[in-house]
Amino acid sequence: MPDSLDRELDASIRPSVPPPVEAVQPHGCLIAFDSDWQGIRLASANLSRFFGLTPAEALGQPPEKVLGANIATALASTLAKGAPGMTIPSGQAGVTSRHLYVSTQMTERHVILGVEPQPGDSHELPGLGYAWGMRIAQASSVSELYAHLLRALHALTGFESCTLYSHEYGGHSVRLGQEGTRFEPFPSAVGRRTTAPMVLVDSRAEPIGLERAPGPQPDLSHSPLCLPPPSLMAWLSGRQARAALILDIDETTPGRSLAICRDRQPRHLAPPLRHLLLQLAQLAALRGTLLNQKRETRHRYRELHERNTKLQWLAYTDPLTQVANRQRIERLLEAELTVADKGGSPLALLLFDIDHFKSINDTHGHGVGDQVLHRVAQIAQAQLRDSDHLGRWGGEEFIAVVPGCDLELAQELAWRLCRSLNECRIAPVGRVTASFGIAVSQPGDTSRKLVQRADRAMYCAKRAGRACVRTQALDA
Ligand code: GH3
Ligand code: MG
Ligand code: MG
Repeated sequence: MPDSLDRELDASIRPSVPPPVEAVQPHGCLIAFDSDWQGIRLASANLSRFFGLTPAEALGQPPEKVLGANIATALASTLAKGAPGMTIPSGQAGVTSRHLYVSTQMTERHVILGVEPQPGDSHELPGLGYAWGMRIAQASSVSELYAHLLRALHALTGFESCTLYSHEYGGHSVRLGQEGTRFEPFPSAVGRRTTAPMVLVDSRAEPIGLERAPGPQPDLSHSPLCLPPPSLMAWLSGRQARAALILDIDETTPGRSLAICRDRQPRHLAPPLRHLLLQLAQLAALRGTLLNQKRETRHRYRELHERNTKLQWLAYTDPLTQVANRQRIERLLEAELTVADKGGSPLALLLFDIDHFKSINDTHGHGVGDQVLHRVAQIAQAQLRDSDHLGRWGGEEFIAVVPGCDLELAQELAWRLCRSLNECRIAPVGRVTASFGIAVSQPGDTSRKLVQRADRAMYCAKRAGRACVRTQALDA
């Protein structure tokens, strides 16, 4: 059930342009300088805790004055390589970790550094990334994929709650957490998309103000030290979360997903670990897109296959009698003749024509004539085996192709068919009969010759008084 907090936040309109950043989270410090490295333009008030200089002493100075020449040189090469940041030793007594991580961001006019403590070392991250990445990349269903991603987030962050919110399932959002699946509104409080993870280390820690040199100001809205937007802070505090990590997952289909990890205790995740988590989330998004597309392709293929089968059936079936049409029965005859020729087995052809059909039409109307055609096809079909083929040759003429059938068997079959028609009463017409001609394949026969012989035999039956069977003239 959606809670009232979500509804309230859903209703709130987020400004499309974020307000200028006035303060940052206190676990790290922020420095911005001109892209030509001339002077520091902005620093957070806690700069001296990390670099020993106050903002007043740093503003307007070249970056190496604050960072030291070695770090400034390493930083220039990090930026040139396009790396997201670098690890540096922490020289100040006030910082508990031995290393700091410097996240870098370049804008047109500024270089923005986010400096954070880097607890522990990061040498095990590539291995962890490989192991979890493989599980995610090999997931064979979307639910398995989500389960892997959730397990990875839980194991790597150590946060007490990790949840996925997704716009999937026909526009509804679904919430997948350790507690299972639950439908909930998408937390619109998260606001606009961010490429970097959003981090909250401790909601109760007092934010640190920024000190600026006059002149054009850098856009800090993408800095990892920024506080999440107020609506998101309210959303988190409604859930008693002091720390949070929010990963925006871009999916081509069906929409946006979010991973939200939160904890009631303050938690800091080192930037390299955050990068890894974002990478896993993006991998999951790609895999999810692929799985969704695969599912859709399978569904479309099945649909297409069904339609094809139906189309084929329509193309090959006589709509009135529901037996093979002329084109189909001709092909079947060709195919069976080839098989019979190769295998040296006989093939019989029965051609039959309903007697005095014109007078049925004339007496009872065309509609009844149609019904008679349908019924005759049914009666004939009932006498044939599955391996035999019945088709409408045209008008009130039918052909049965009977593989593996010699002349004697063909005569038996034709008489059986003739009698079964004779004995049936088709309302409102009554007795309907047909005349049968038989031809049996000879070595080197063609389908045309075979049909010709059966046709002549059928006319013999007509001349002999109808409702009877006649056989091919062998010398024909
Ligand atoms: P015979 O015993 O010599 O075969 O005489 P017949 O009346 O059966 O043969 P004829 O060739 O004179 O007439 C065949 C009739 O079949 C003429 C045609 O209108 C009718 N016919 C052909 N196709 C259809 C059809 O699809 N539906 C109906 N109701 N009649 C059809
Ligand atoms: Mg006829
Ligand atoms: Mg006819």
